[in-house]
Amino acid sequence: MAEVLKGNVVAAQIKEKMAKDIEELAKLGKVPTLGIVRLGDNPDDISYERSIIKNCDKIGIEAKVFEQDVNMTTEELLSLMGELNEDNSISGVLLFRPLPKHIDEAKVRESLVPSKDVDGMNPVTLAKIFEGDLSGFAPCTPKAAMEILLYNNIELEGKNVVVVNRSMVLGKPLTMMLLNENATVTICHSRTKNLPEITKNADVVVTALGRAKFFDEKYFNENSICIDVGVSLDEEGKLSGDIDYPVVSELVSKITPVPGGVGSVTTSILLSHVVEACKKM
Ligand code: NAP
Repeated sequence: MAEVLKGNVVAAQIKEKMAKDIEELAKLGKVPTLGIVRLGDNPDDISYERSIIKNCDKIGIEAKVFEQDVNMTTEELLSLMGELNEDNSISGVLLFRPLPKHIDEAKVRESLVPSKDVDGMNPVTLAKIFEGDLSGFAPCTPKAAMEILLYNNIELEGKNVVVVNRSMVLGKPLTMMLLNENATVTICHSRTKNLPEITKNADVVVTALGRAKFFDEKYFNENSICIDVGVSLDEEGKLSGDIDYPVVSELVSKITPVPGGVGSVTTSILLSHVVEACKKM
């Protein structure tokens, strides 16, 4: 039976540090404030927004929601981003993506100043990560996966790590963060041949497909360390990771659960970025 790498202990450590920082900021009359920009009423966005607001309330971060018409134009959204850039009461901005098809997402991503880019969406913020400079705000989900590995003292130097995802929000920035820890990283995707062979020979496998229970025992060995980033609904409508947890957790050495793994660290990372942004204002 695998050791379960739970997210709540990692999140608790991040929150503990954040609480101290928020106390210090209060002495200076500063309240870290997150601006949330949401276009339309996508249920996934609304549910994520609720959870963020709940977490903000618990720790003493203010959340301001800027709910917008789903039909707003790129120019209107750029204008709002410009206002938020200038607004001294907003420490950081989270924009729910993907944006509707008619919006020029690239332009919008570029419009947010890096100092408020708490979810690492501006190409300038990402470019820093690709240069090995981790002083900016990394995208929250890959950073959450890294925090779980680091919290659990999982040796990465010289280890073979496979990342199954090549998106700009996940696989690519995560690969850079892993390289920074001197891991040897392989990126896999939908055109990869012999995926089970590649993952089975890795020390650490990070899965982020978004297909419930896709990875069964043939993808791993008894020493595998599995970090499951995928979140989707299984055939019974239950929240599931990419890994067939009941089967695979019997085989491998360490595994993150879903729910309760990477996802439970992601929001804490986001909020810690808001606090850091506020400290620098
Ligand atoms: P995405 O852009 O759709 O990326 C999926 C990746 O999986 C792509 O690189 C795709 O390859 C690859 N893939 C698809 N089918 C494959 C197959 N059969 N074999 C190998 N690779 C395959 O999605 P995303 O936005 O990066 O998100 C991925 C997952 O992470 C989703 O489940 C999402 O819910 C989850 N997520 C979790 C959190 C969290 O906090 N835990 C946050 C954000 C997202 P191609 O590039 O070739 O298409």
